[in-house]
Amino acid sequence: MQYQAVLKKMMTELNDVVHYYLDTENDFLNLNQLLNKEIEISFEGYQCLSCGKEKKIFRQGLCYDCFYKSAAVGDWVMKPELSTAHLGIEDRDLAYEKEAQLKPHIVYLALSSNVKVGVTRKTQIPTRWIDQGATKAIEIVEVPNRYLAGITEVALKEHVADKTNWQKMLKNEILDIDLIEEREKLKAFIPKEAQPYFLANNGKITEINYPVLQYPTKVKSLNLEKTPSYFGKLIGVKGQYLLFEDNTVFNIRNSEGYKVIIEVK
Ligand SMILES: [Zn+2]
Repeated sequence: MQYQAVLKKMMTELNDVVHYYLDTENDFLNLNQLLNKEIEISFEGYQCLSCGKEKKIFRQGLCYDCFYKSAAVGDWVMKPELSTAHLGIEDRDLAYEKEAQLKPHIVYLALSSNVKVGVTRKTQIPTRWIDQGATKAIEIVEVPNRYLAGITEVALKEHVADKTNWQKMLKNEILDIDLIEEREKLKAFIPKEAQPYFLANNGKITEINYPVLQYPTKVKSLNLEKTPSYFGKLIGVKGQYLLFEDNTVFNIRNSEGYKVIIEVK
Protein backbone atom coordinates (compact mmCIF):
# COMPACT_ATOMS: atom_id res chain seq x y z
CA MET A 1 0.00 0.00 0.00
CA GLN A 2 1.32 3.41 -0.99
CA TYR A 3 0.57 6.76 0.63
CA GLN A 4 1.50 10.22 -0.60
CA ALA A 5 1.88 12.98 1.93
CA VAL A 6 3.20 16.43 2.60
CA LEU A 7 4.51 15.72 6.09
CA LYS A 8 2.84 17.49 9.00
CA LYS A 9 3.29 16.56 12.61
CA MET A 10 1.43 13.43 13.58
CA MET A 11 -1.95 13.77 15.23
CA THR A 12 -2.26 12.02 18.56
CA GLU A 13 -4.85 10.67 20.91
CA LEU A 14 -4.13 9.81 24.54
CA ASN A 15 -5.42 6.33 25.35
CA ASP A 16 -3.83 3.47 27.31
CA VAL A 17 -1.10 3.95 24.74
CA VAL A 18 -0.94 7.00 22.50
CA HIS A 19 -2.57 6.57 19.10
CA TYR A 20 -0.72 8.21 16.23
CA TYR A 21 -2.16 9.31 12.87
CA LEU A 22 -0.46 10.77 9.84
CA ASP A 23 -2.52 12.87 7.45
CA THR A 24 -1.87 11.62 3.89
CA GLU A 25 -3.50 12.39 0.57
CA ASN A 26 -5.28 9.05 0.57
CA ASP A 27 -6.35 8.72 4.16
CA PHE A 28 -5.31 8.99 7.79
CA LEU A 29 -2.54 6.50 8.29
CA ASN A 30 -2.83 4.79 11.67
CA LEU A 31 0.80 4.32 12.68
CA ASN A 32 0.06 2.00 15.60
CA GLN A 33 -1.11 -0.51 13.04
CA LEU A 34 2.21 -0.32 11.20
CA LEU A 35 4.28 -1.62 14.12
CA ASN A 36 6.41 -4.59 13.10
CA LYS A 37 5.87 -3.76 9.42
CA GLU A 38 8.50 -2.79 6.91
CA ILE A 39 8.02 0.61 5.39
CA GLU A 40 9.84 2.64 2.80
CA ILE A 41 9.96 6.44 2.91
CA SER A 42 10.93 8.28 -0.28
CA PHE A 43 11.60 11.99 -0.46
CA GLU A 44 9.89 13.64 -3.43
CA GLY A 45 10.43 17.37 -2.84
CA TYR A 46 9.07 20.26 -0.79
CA GLN A 47 5.73 21.98 -0.36
CA CYS A 48 5.47 24.97 1.97
CA LEU A 49 2.65 24.44 4.48
CA SER A 50 1.67 28.11 4.26
CA CYS A 51 1.86 29.24 0.60
CA GLY A 52 1.72 25.73 -0.89
CA LYS A 53 4.56 26.51 -3.31
CA GLU A 54 7.16 23.85 -4.01
CA LYS A 55 9.92 25.87 -2.41
CA LYS A 56 12.68 24.58 -0.18
CA ILE A 57 11.59 24.37 3.44
CA PHE A 58 13.42 26.77 5.73
CA ARG A 59 11.94 25.97 9.15
CA GLN A 60 8.79 24.52 10.71
CA GLY A 61 7.35 23.44 7.40
CA LEU A 62 7.59 26.91 5.88
CA CYS A 63 9.62 28.37 3.04
CA TYR A 64 11.98 31.23 3.87
CA ASP A 65 9.54 33.99 2.82
CA CYS A 66 6.62 32.54 4.77
CA PHE A 67 8.78 31.94 7.84
CA TYR A 68 9.62 35.64 7.97
CA LYS A 69 6.10 36.83 7.17
CA SER A 70 3.74 34.42 8.87
CA ALA A 71 2.12 35.71 12.06
CA ALA A 72 2.14 32.14 13.33
CA VAL A 73 5.92 32.04 13.82
CA GLY A 74 6.80 35.37 15.43
CA ASP A 75 9.49 35.40 18.12
CA TRP A 76 6.84 35.14 20.84
CA VAL A 77 6.12 31.54 19.75
CA MET A 78 9.50 30.20 20.85
CA LYS A 79 9.97 32.90 23.48
CA PRO A 80 6.56 33.41 25.13
CA GLU A 81 7.99 36.12 27.39
CA LEU A 82 8.23 38.37 24.31
CA SER A 83 4.43 38.29 23.89
CA THR A 84 2.93 41.80 23.68
CA ALA A 85 -0.71 41.31 22.61
CA HIS A 86 -1.82 41.91 26.24
CA LEU A 87 -0.40 45.45 25.85
CA GLY A 88 -2.08 45.90 22.47
CA ILE A 89 1.33 45.95 20.77
CA GLU A 90 1.68 44.25 17.40
CA ASP A 91 4.52 41.98 16.33
CA ARG A 92 3.32 40.85 12.88
CA ASP A 93 -0.49 40.76 13.03
CA LEU A 94 -2.18 41.98 16.20
CA ALA A 95 -5.52 40.29 15.53
CA TYR A 96 -3.82 36.92 15.12
CA GLU A 97 -1.58 37.52 18.12
CA LYS A 98 -4.51 38.50 20.35
CA GLU A 99 -6.32 35.36 19.33
CA ALA A 100 -3.29 33.18 20.12
CA GLN A 101 -1.80 34.93 23.13
CA LEU A 102 -4.81 36.11 25.12
CA LYS A 103 -5.93 32.59 25.94
CA PRO A 104 -5.38 30.44 29.01
CA HIS A 105 -1.84 29.09 29.05
CA ILE A 106 -0.30 26.41 31.22
CA VAL A 107 3.22 26.26 32.60
CA TYR A 108 4.03 22.63 33.28
CA LEU A 109 6.71 20.18 34.30
CA ALA A 110 7.24 17.23 31.99
CA LEU A 111 9.44 14.19 32.47
CA SER A 112 10.91 13.00 29.19
CA SER A 113 14.43 12.04 30.31
CA ASN A 114 15.11 14.77 32.82
CA VAL A 115 12.45 17.15 34.14
CA LYS A 116 11.77 20.22 32.05
CA VAL A 117 9.57 23.24 32.38
CA GLY A 118 7.45 24.31 29.41
CA VAL A 119 4.61 26.54 28.25
CA THR A 120 1.62 25.69 26.14
CA ARG A 121 -1.86 26.87 25.36
CA LYS A 122 -4.33 25.08 27.59
CA THR A 123 -6.06 23.50 24.61
CA GLN A 124 -2.74 21.86 23.63
CA ILE A 125 -2.71 19.62 26.68
CA PRO A 126 -1.89 16.72 26.52
CA THR A 127 -0.85 17.06 22.83
CA ARG A 128 2.21 19.14 23.68
CA TRP A 129 3.40 16.59 26.24
CA ILE A 130 2.97 13.72 23.80
CA ASP A 131 4.88 15.65 21.10
CA GLN A 132 7.79 15.99 23.50
CA GLY A 133 7.77 12.31 24.38
CA ALA A 134 7.03 12.94 28.05
CA THR A 135 6.07 9.93 30.14
CA LYS A 136 4.67 12.05 32.98
CA ALA A 137 3.61 15.66 33.29
CA ILE A 138 2.01 17.99 35.80
CA GLU A 139 0.60 21.51 35.53
CA ILE A 140 2.04 24.33 37.67
CA VAL A 141 0.10 27.51 36.84
CA GLU A 142 -2.79 28.38 34.56
CA VAL A 143 -2.51 32.02 33.50
CA PRO A 144 -4.80 34.13 31.27
CA ASN A 145 -2.20 35.00 28.64
CA ARG A 146 1.03 33.87 27.02
CA TYR A 147 3.15 36.66 28.47
CA LEU A 148 2.52 35.58 32.08
CA ALA A 149 3.31 31.99 31.13
CA GLY A 150 6.53 33.17 29.46
CA ILE A 151 7.85 35.12 32.43
CA THR A 152 7.01 32.18 34.71
CA GLU A 153 8.98 29.82 32.49
CA VAL A 154 11.93 32.22 32.38
CA ALA A 155 11.97 32.40 36.19
CA LEU A 156 11.64 28.63 36.66
CA LYS A 157 14.27 27.65 34.13
CA GLU A 158 16.86 29.13 36.46
CA HIS A 159 16.11 26.08 38.60
CA VAL A 160 15.07 23.34 36.16
CA ALA A 161 15.89 22.43 32.53
CA ASP A 162 13.79 23.77 29.67
CA LYS A 163 15.05 21.37 27.00
CA THR A 164 14.44 17.72 26.32
CA ASN A 165 17.41 15.42 25.75
CA TRP A 166 15.86 13.74 22.72
CA GLN A 167 18.38 10.91 22.47
CA LYS A 168 17.72 9.85 26.06
CA MET A 169 14.00 10.32 25.58
CA LEU A 170 14.09 7.95 22.58
CA LYS A 171 16.22 5.39 24.40
CA ASN A 172 13.76 5.61 27.29
CA GLU A 173 16.46 6.62 29.77
CA ILE A 174 14.27 8.40 32.27
CA LEU A 175 15.27 9.72 35.67
CA ASP A 176 13.11 8.68 38.59
CA ILE A 177 11.80 12.04 39.75
CA ASP A 178 8.79 12.95 41.86
CA LEU A 179 7.01 15.68 39.90
CA ILE A 180 4.82 16.69 42.82
CA GLU A 181 7.89 17.30 44.95
CA GLU A 182 9.56 19.25 42.11
CA ARG A 183 6.49 21.39 41.69
CA GLU A 184 6.49 22.23 45.40
CA LYS A 185 10.17 23.18 45.25
CA LEU A 186 9.62 25.48 42.29
CA LYS A 187 6.56 27.20 43.73
CA ALA A 188 8.66 29.79 45.56
CA PHE A 189 10.27 30.93 42.30
CA ILE A 190 7.05 31.75 40.44
CA PRO A 191 7.08 35.50 39.67
CA LYS A 192 4.76 37.64 41.75
CA GLU A 193 2.39 38.46 38.86
CA ALA A 194 1.78 34.76 38.25
CA GLN A 195 1.58 33.54 41.83
CA PRO A 196 -2.20 33.98 42.14
CA TYR A 197 -2.52 31.45 39.28
CA PHE A 198 -0.69 28.60 41.00
CA LEU A 199 -2.83 25.48 40.63
CA ALA A 200 -2.84 24.69 44.33
CA ASN A 201 -5.38 21.90 44.05
CA ASN A 202 -4.12 20.33 40.86
CA GLY A 203 -1.48 17.84 41.84
CA LYS A 204 -2.61 15.48 39.11
CA ILE A 205 0.11 13.64 37.21
CA THR A 206 -0.73 12.62 33.66
CA GLU A 207 0.98 9.39 32.64
CA ILE A 208 1.66 8.69 28.99
CA ASN A 209 2.53 5.35 27.38
CA TYR A 210 3.84 5.09 23.85
CA PRO A 211 3.42 2.37 21.26
CA VAL A 212 6.99 1.08 21.34
CA LEU A 213 7.86 -2.62 21.01
CA GLN A 214 11.53 -2.09 21.71
CA TYR A 215 13.60 1.01 22.48
CA PRO A 216 16.75 1.73 20.48
CA THR A 217 20.11 1.38 22.25
CA LYS A 218 21.68 4.16 20.23
CA VAL A 219 19.99 6.51 17.80
CA LYS A 220 20.85 7.76 14.37
CA SER A 221 18.68 10.41 12.82
CA LEU A 222 17.24 10.03 9.35
CA ASN A 223 17.63 13.15 7.22
CA LEU A 224 15.67 12.77 3.99
CA GLU A 225 17.69 15.46 2.23
CA LYS A 226 20.82 13.32 2.67
CA THR A 227 19.11 9.92 2.46
CA PRO A 228 16.19 10.38 0.05
CA SER A 229 15.04 6.81 0.35
CA TYR A 230 14.92 4.76 3.55
CA PHE A 231 13.63 1.30 4.24
CA GLY A 232 13.21 -0.31 7.66
CA LYS A 233 10.98 -2.09 10.14
CA LEU A 234 8.93 0.20 12.39
CA ILE A 235 9.24 -0.78 16.05
CA GLY A 236 7.79 2.24 17.78
CA VAL A 237 6.48 5.79 17.80
CA LYS A 238 7.37 8.26 20.57
CA GLY A 239 7.12 12.04 20.69
CA GLN A 240 7.07 12.98 17.01
CA TYR A 241 9.59 10.27 16.10
CA LEU A 242 9.28 7.00 14.22
CA LEU A 243 11.65 4.36 15.63
CA PHE A 244 13.07 1.64 13.43
CA GLU A 245 14.66 -1.72 14.21
CA ASP A 246 18.12 -0.64 12.94
CA ASN A 247 18.26 2.28 15.47
CA THR A 248 17.24 4.83 12.83
CA VAL A 249 14.87 7.47 14.17
CA PHE A 250 12.84 9.83 12.01
CA ASN A 251 11.63 13.14 13.40
CA ILE A 252 8.42 13.88 11.51
CA ARG A 253 8.15 17.35 12.99
CA ASN A 254 11.57 18.36 11.64
CA SER A 255 10.50 17.17 8.21
CA GLU A 256 7.27 19.14 7.92
CA GLY A 257 6.62 20.36 4.40
CA TYR A 258 8.53 17.45 2.83
CA LYS A 259 6.65 15.59 0.12
CA VAL A 260 7.06 11.87 0.60
CA ILE A 261 5.77 8.55 -0.56
CA ILE A 262 5.33 6.00 2.20
CA GLU A 263 5.11 2.44 1.10
CA VAL A 264 3.93 -0.19 3.53
CA LYS A 265 5.34 -3.58 2.51
ZN1 LIG B 1 5.73 29.57 1.69
